Amino acid sequence: MTDVSSRSLRYENGDYPLIKLEDVWKIYQMGEEEFAALKNIDLKIYKGEFVVVLGPSGSGKSTMMNLLGCLDMPSKGVIELNGMDISKMDESSLAEVRGKMIGFIFQQFNLIPTLNTLENVMLPLDFQEVDADFAKKRAIELLKIVGLSDKLYHSQSQLSGGQRQRVAIARSLAVDPDVILADEPTGNLDSKTGGYILEFLDNLHRQGKTIIIVTHDMELVNYAERVIHIKDGLIEKIDNRKKLSDINEKIFDSNINVVIVNHRCISSNIR
Ligand code: ADP
Ligand code: MG
Repeated sequence: MTDVSSRSLRYENGDYPLIKLEDVWKIYQMGEEEFAALKNIDLKIYKGEFVVVLGPSGSGKSTMMNLLGCLDMPSKGVIELNGMDISKMDESSLAEVRGKMIGFIFQQFNLIPTLNTLENVMLPLDFQEVDADFAKKRAIELLKIVGLSDKLYHSQSQLSGGQRQRVAIARSLAVDPDVILADEPTGNLDSKTGGYILEFLDNLHRQGKTIIIVTHDMELVNYAERVIHIKDGLIEKIDNRKKLSDINEKIFDSNINVVIVNHRCISSNIR
């Protein structure tokens, strides 16, 4: 087990990246051919940021998401999660730190079809070997926040796309991660439902969660404080929409209590 507590203190000051990519390359091998899906990526994600990685189809966004989420190892370069080089961590420590720190949301929702809504949300807590009663309580609370209290025992086939993505959001929050990492979270939703999901993510951001979305959808940049433009596996440019100091100020005044009105999360107690 790797000790993360002493390192955590350092980024409480706001100057310590939660995720750091240094000269990261991802090269896919296809038979004899090599294909560089990401090249020379330098990127630091700080606590409390809302970052959008924007690029056209095939530009390397999902590859980037897998690396930022430490789900995949780079071909070259260094990835640090919470100040630790992930290549130096054993698989189980990495899984544990990642499982506590990062919640994932996918375009295809990636829910387990054989589990009901409640069980899907409890799953990350089961992996963390959290007490079953606590896990159930927490999952019920989160499903209330996303407006699905009446769907706890529904199977996924009984839910609409928007409802499934809300289950996925509740699941991503189960372990109270610092970071929510989403790959085209609105890609399979109509624009109204997509708007709801984005507002929800925006609310989480206001409470101090770090949000990273990879997308081809220009509309999402409106929510971002930093937009990373990627093309052909390269960072083309980075737009800062707000100064980092403003972001850091925001992090520390986020003790808000939950208010849900008509499925709209006005504010929330997710901490
Ligand atoms: P995006 O999410 O922006 O559409 P991806 O990260 O999925 O882009 O893919 C970037 C490039 O890498 C694409 O050209 C894709 O075909 C290629 N690619 C992705 N995954 C693999 C793989 N496992 N093997 C070979 N090529 C891949
Ligand atoms: Mg993709």
